[in-house]
Amino acid sequence: MTQNQPIGNEATTQLTEEGVDALARAAAHATKEAPARASLISDRAAKIKQSAVRDVFEISMQPGLISLAGGNPYLQSLPLAELGQSAARIISERGLEALQYGGGQGTEELRQQICMVMAEEGITDADPANVVITAGSQSAQDVAAKVFTNPGDVVLVEDPTYVGALNAFEAYQVDVVSVQVDDDGIVPAALQATIDSLTAAGRTIKLLYTIPNFNNPSGVTLAPERRQEVVDIARAANILVLEDNPYGLLKFDGDLPRPLRADNPDDVLYLGSLSKIFAPGLRIGWALVPAHLKQTFYLANEAVTLCPPTFNQLFASAYLREYDWRGQVATYRALYQRRCEALLDALREFMPSEVSWTSPAGGFFVWVTLPEGIDTYPLLYQGIDAGVVFVPGAAFTTTPGPSRHLRLAFSAATEETIYEGVRRLAPVLANAIAAL
Ligand code: PMP
Repeated sequence: MTQNQPIGNEATTQLTEEGVDALARAAAHATKEAPARASLISDRAAKIKQSAVRDVFEISMQPGLISLAGGNPYLQSLPLAELGQSAARIISERGLEALQYGGGQGTEELRQQICMVMAEEGITDADPANVVITAGSQSAQDVAAKVFTNPGDVVLVEDPTYVGALNAFEAYQVDVVSVQVDDDGIVPAALQATIDSLTAAGRTIKLLYTIPNFNNPSGVTLAPERRQEVVDIARAANILVLEDNPYGLLKFDGDLPRPLRADNPDDVLYLGSLSKIFAPGLRIGWALVPAHLKQTFYLANEAVTLCPPTFNQLFASAYLREYDWRGQVATYRALYQRRCEALLDALREFMPSEVSWTSPAGGFFVWVTLPEGIDTYPLLYQGIDAGVVFVPGAAFTTTPGPSRHLRLAFSAATEETIYEGVRRLAPVLANAIAAL
């Protein structure tokens, strides 16, 4: 193992839980271990991927390692001192409310403010009565799978897609089926063909889960001219669209893409989150549910959490009421744009010509593609030896077997760190290509 010098004063070694999950999924492609006391484990839980990822996690904590793995937002740019005062005020002035159980759907004030946030993106008709606050949008994915799927049903996803959603869906014993995407997102004709063949085989398709803006992990955005067609195809097949849009406000420049939900209130269940535009530790996400489905979704969510965390909701409301949250989003957009450019510049400078990558218009991630025949999972260990960690592509797909892709996150590291991380990664990939 080589010794690497720390870069700047950044916490470069942290992996998010999501990063750990992703590594776990990737590792599960490589190892198949029988769980201890397997007879106790439900069929449902046995579907959740587990593996030797903790070993990798331990290794990845070594000082000086650069993590381009986790999708952490850069919280250092938040007004922490003022937020501290705001938190203290909530406890001293409204402590009995803040520390008490609250309504299962979330506070009225926050649900109204969430409608204001969604209006920024073009959803102008949202009724707070149809907003359900969830423990991050991660738990909304779980609730959606619980409410809408039976074991054996099909959930359609993009390939690649968000690892946390795959884990959430698969725990409900559904068949997660990938739909072809290209540089403009879901290919409508391919979506139609997939639906046709599954329907002909007698399968029941319940959900189309899509991340239309700056997909995690690919960075790809669904082209505006495809958006309505995708919803129309789903509607005609009686499939509910689950639109997951945590990065939508983080477009680097220009007009924001119009959410699928904006023009399709009855056909799209929209998931949003404060995690990327404010802070993920609060675990505040939401679902904007079609009116006719709201009650079932709400009751299922209540069965999981009773109520969303009251203090966190009051704190989030204070932030949205008292701070220039739009200015903060603008700060994030500019910051992530610079970091993305630093990553793309470094890739251009260091990567072998056989390697290609996406150029996202927003969000946190770039998706790197290597030549056919390369498996990026073992390269993870070589990367760690070289002082850089990424997430192998196998984490983000239902396609079994090796993946020739990997995900790089530019959100959490400084430009200098990103540059150094790519400089370290390039020889690892070059060696793998030379060995083909
Ligand atoms: N969806 C996507 C596409 C994500 O990338 C993430 C977090 N990485 C989530 C959902 C979960 O976000 P939250 O913190 O709101 O649970």
